[in-house]
Amino acid sequence: MTGMQIRHSIVNGSAAEVANIVLPSDFVELDWENLDFLGWRDSHSPHLGYIVRWDGDEPVGIIVREADGPLSRRRMMMCQLCRATHTEHGVSLFSAKRAGEAGLAGNTVGTYICANLGCSANIRVEVPHASYYSDPESVLAQKVEGLESRVSGFLRDVMRPLD
Ligand SMILES: [Zn+2]
Repeated sequence: MTGMQIRHSIVNGSAAEVANIVLPSDFVELDWENLDFLGWRDSHSPHLGYIVRWDGDEPVGIIVREADGPLSRRRMMMCQLCRATHTEHGVSLFSAKRAGEAGLAGNTVGTYICANLGCSANIRVEVPHASYYSDPESVLAQKVEGLESRVSGFLRDVMRPLD
């Protein structure tokens, strides 16, 4: 994936928002094999982040915005994409403007996601527990499958046309 492809992939951003995207600092050395999707925070606009994934041959990406204000007081929060559980600072509420007319009408979709948007790395760092009936590789494969289906579901929600 190139920087140009990423800019073209964004479905819910204005021309200015897309032009202002700052790519991740390690973009050229990303390990695509181990990325179920590419997620990162914008180093110049701390409230913004991006989620880009391959949809067949085409990358599809969205801009997400971290909600202001303190999160719930609960101690542990779960990322709704990768299901990793973190202390409250590790998970943020992000909202995404919906694509097209829905977004222009002010519609957004929100969910709790790992604050660094690094779910792909997070599910691989927390080495899954082996058990009598599952080996670590198949546990990871399940996590990857779940993450991919939830990320694509979130992107589908963002791209859903106005009813
Ligand atoms: Zn996550």
